[in-house]
Amino acid sequence: MASKSIRVRGIVLKSTSYGDNDRILTILTREHGKITATAKGAQSVKSAHIASCAPFAKSDFRLSESSRTKRLTVSASRLLNSHYRLSSSYLKLSMASYISEAIGSATEEGTEDYWAYQLLNAALALAVKADDRHLPALAIGCMLKLFSIFGVLPHFSGCVLCGAEFDGYYFSFEAGGLACASCTDTKDLYLASDKAQYLNAASQAQLEQLAVLEPPSVHICAKLLELLNQYYTYTFNKKLRSFISLIQAENNMES
Ligand SMILES: [Zn+2]
Repeated sequence: MASKSIRVRGIVLKSTSYGDNDRILTILTREHGKITATAKGAQSVKSAHIASCAPFAKSDFRLSESSRTKRLTVSASRLLNSHYRLSSSYLKLSMASYISEAIGSATEEGTEDYWAYQLLNAALALAVKADDRHLPALAIGCMLKLFSIFGVLPHFSGCVLCGAEFDGYYFSFEAGGLACASCTDTKDLYLASDKAQYLNAASQAQLEQLAVLEPPSVHICAKLLELLNQYYTYTFNKKLRSFISLIQAENNMES
């Protein structure tokens, strides 16, 4: 049966063993958004695809699409960057896993998503290069960029409902940002104004800047990430499993 061939550039989000020899890959591509493809024989150390099918690997793939089942199979691959230095620290690996899961889960299969791909590409490159102490701030920046790409960036300057500025705010999931005490009934997530200001500045900064600026304390970063993680779950209705390892890795760094 004839099959169609397509070329994509992509980053492997997930690589699962399938049967004795094959791997099922979830790839975030530049051209076609998130796709699933089978890499035949990729579990064998002799496979030409073994390096390009590892998690976080960025590669050019040639995929053949079965005209009957529409399933994609990797027919050729060329590794561009394995990002292998991510495994040099538990924090780097946890941060990369978390951001990959967050971007991957927010992306619909088969929907073109150039900016989601670009964000993941930039996040992995920066995580490889950055000093470990900058990683929590970088993770915050990546989450804010993700919200921005998907059009759900929370409002961080003044109360989202009345516009007034205060010394402290409550984060309202429903209103999509900071709210003052008189505008909201939800009093569970209090944010002092310095934290609110940091989120506002970080949401406007370039990711590259967050990788070099003096970051807030690990403790503050963990609190802010927890808030952004909760907002992610509220907005996309998805829980990110890798969040716990990220927070554990951050706590290890502090001790
Ligand atoms: Zn208000």
